[in-house]
Amino acid sequence: MNGTNADEIKVSLLGVRGSTPTSGKDTLEYGGATSCLLVQAGGRSIFLDAGNGILNAPDIPDDPVSVFFTHMHLDHVLGLPYIPHLNDKGHSVDLYARKQEGTTLREQIDQIFRHPGWPCGLDVYTARVTTHDAQFPVMIGEMEIDAAKSVHPGDSTVYRVTYHGKSIVYATDYEYDEATEGTLIDFAKNADLLFFDGQYTEEEYQTRRGYGHSTVSQGLIIMEKAHVKQLKIVHHDPGHTDRFLKEWEDKVKTERISFAKEGEIIRL
Ligand SMILES: [Zn+2]
Ligand SMILES: [Zn+2]
Repeated sequence: MNGTNADEIKVSLLGVRGSTPTSGKDTLEYGGATSCLLVQAGGRSIFLDAGNGILNAPDIPDDPVSVFFTHMHLDHVLGLPYIPHLNDKGHSVDLYARKQEGTTLREQIDQIFRHPGWPCGLDVYTARVTTHDAQFPVMIGEMEIDAAKSVHPGDSTVYRVTYHGKSIVYATDYEYDEATEGTLIDFAKNADLLFFDGQYTEEEYQTRRGYGHSTVSQGLIIMEKAHVKQLKIVHHDPGHTDRFLKEWEDKVKTERISFAKEGEIIRL
């Protein structure tokens, strides 16, 4: 059962850095690997995004392996060639994204993972790889995965995973706006845990409007209005060191609000 109890959702934070990976001693605590969450419940596992955080994945027995992409920005797909079991003959890997007008998930992946961006395409891997331009909700075991459109340049997706009455919402690469907040508030309603893109400080946000990311205080607005129990800030800016993030987190931290750290495991 993946080390989970019957009613438990286990979330492993494999990568929580935004935009590009970081390396070196200044980002060891919060972590330098990009977006990737592993959600496990009822004996099944799903990945949300495949940033290079997917290299931190534990062994998972799932066949097929299921990966849900928010969008194709590099920080969310960097780890795609390292999806577990991708090179295991006889194994299956299912890749999902929200169905989009005019392009398929396969075409989008092919634009990145082939010459000259990468030496080979998806067809080279020995697992049976299937791409799904999905209509949501999708069921993986007893987990229900729902999706909604985010607010982000070039589009992105917000996910909600529900299992035995508990829900987590993954709203990375989301730019808050008063005019459009209603969509996320409805989608995240009464969630137990909201992962929210709080990449920028209030000051930084002033010069980065339209980049597709939000601030911590905007996450608080969604948390309160959607009656979400807990808020985890993700997509840390690559320029924010551990010291910077720690000082910032100390100012905003409560029992319900904290900053995500790579390697952290949350059980709901
Ligand atoms: Zn991103
Ligand atoms: Zn993005």
